Amino acid sequence: MRKLVAGNWKMNGLKAEGLALARALVARAAAGDPPDCELAIFPPATLLVPIAETLRGSGIALGAQDCHAEAKGAHTGDVAAPMLRDAGCTYVIVGHSERRTAHGESDAEVRAKATAARAAGLVPVLCVGESLAERERGEEFEVVERQLEGSLPERLSAGEIVVAYEPVWAIGTGRTPTSEQVAAMHAHIRRRLAAGIKGGAEVPILYGGSVKANNARELLSVACVDGALVGGASLNATEFWAIAQSCP
Ligand code: PEP
Repeated sequence: MRKLVAGNWKMNGLKAEGLALARALVARAAAGDPPDCELAIFPPATLLVPIAETLRGSGIALGAQDCHAEAKGAHTGDVAAPMLRDAGCTYVIVGHSERRTAHGESDAEVRAKATAARAAGLVPVLCVGESLAERERGEEFEVVERQLEGSLPERLSAGEIVVAYEPVWAIGTGRTPTSEQVAAMHAHIRRRLAAGIKGGAEVPILYGGSVKANNARELLSVACVDGALVGGASLNATEFWAIAQSCP
């Protein structure tokens, strides 16, 4: 399976800079020497429609950073999964730790969002990962297992979901787990997916948390790492491209 390198722009980018970043990636994709991986970007909601136009025909997929669990209705300020599909998205991130923490999202809510994403024809990128305190207590496998148990939608097949392992303590900190720690967690997640999902052995498992151009090759070479979810470093076209080109 080709790896997936996904850029989560978070709450960054006015129209001019967001479009310039998307155009810079499209120009690189058109210039030859494409990376040997799938690429996706996750701009803020305000930029999805114009960036969908920019990406058309480039091979770079579009994703959103969150969706509501309902398909429509009285939910001021929220965006529904069918709206994201209509805007040109293929993917939507659900359960990012910043939403679990800042918005108090529970596993049940994340599961409802992932289910809504599937119903709208989107591929949810389901984020799981332990806090530093949980790792220090040796609870990381148990925590991730519980998050998967509680937030994976029911009756899934391979191709319908992507899982991203993002240790909370690695996000935006410049710290990363060792290759051994990443390998152990990804193997654990792989076993859980293989046991619970038809074709679960083929569900891509991304690593996320302080992936940069200078550590991407090592992280992307770890067994069972099927790609990367990149935050800060995805805001720079040159660095994001270098990460994508690090796919072994
Ligand atoms: C993220 O928030 O999904 C992420 C991986 O962030 P960063 O790469 O900046 O650590």
